[in-house]
Amino acid sequence: MAILPFLIPALFFFIVGLVIGSFLNVVILRSIRDESWVTGRSHCDVCGAQIAWYDNVPLLSYLILRGRCRHCKKAISISHPVVEGLTGVLFVWWYAGLFLFFKLTQEPFVVLQPLFWLAVAAILMVIFVTDVLVYVIPDKAVVALSALVVVYQLALMYSGIMQPRDFMWALMGMAVAVLFFFSLWFITRGRGLGLGDVKLIAPLTLLMGWPSAVVGIFSAFIIGAVIGVVSVVAGKKKMKQPIPFGPFLIIGTVISLIWGHDIVSWYLNFLY
Ligand SMILES: [Zn+2]
Repeated sequence: MAILPFLIPALFFFIVGLVIGSFLNVVILRSIRDESWVTGRSHCDVCGAQIAWYDNVPLLSYLILRGRCRHCKKAISISHPVVEGLTGVLFVWWYAGLFLFFKLTQEPFVVLQPLFWLAVAAILMVIFVTDVLVYVIPDKAVVALSALVVVYQLALMYSGIMQPRDFMWALMGMAVAVLFFFSLWFITRGRGLGLGDVKLIAPLTLLMGWPSAVVGIFSAFIIGAVIGVVSVVAGKKKMKQPIPFGPFLIIGTVISLIWGHDIVSWYLNFLY
């Protein structure tokens, strides 16, 4: 296979990803400051100076400015180049995946399926980074994700691709998961997990489907426990210091989406 016909579009998608990543950074920062997602110009976190377009070029500006604001010389959050780079990689992965794992060949899902997963990935990126940075899961992001998942799955059902029965199972699973998370939140008085996690599990359960969501939730708790123990032992965190749970839920969701079905079948075979 010739590599150039793949590389040139891949580079194009990487650059598009960088630009989108730059926008996601704005969304993350404005979620943290509780500002509007779309209106207003970008400004420095520390000195408030408006950021000129030439200081806002994804990745490059961070490198050229050596990670410091042009005006006040204070450090720019490392989340900027990280989110930009990750979104760039996400877009290349998505482009490669167009030929590998987006299987719906029925119009309009040839286009809708890849776009849906790209949008889901972008929203999950915002939630992941915001939770890591400030221990908050933005309500707006959860609402956007919920609306996206429900509308997409309704469209899938309307087209006969998804069985209404599966959607009902997912809805019931969602009720169980939300109740379970709410109980945990209530019993631990918000120290185990936050109310944001309780809200986030709703669209994630719908996304994963039932019983695959069980795999995702289990994985999140296992990974969270391991990371929690490791970081306490390594002395990075004190026992009472919170560890954001949203990122583990998102990693668990990805595991469930990729292997959930296989793990559930394996487990059922194991039992019977
Ligand atoms: Zn500044």
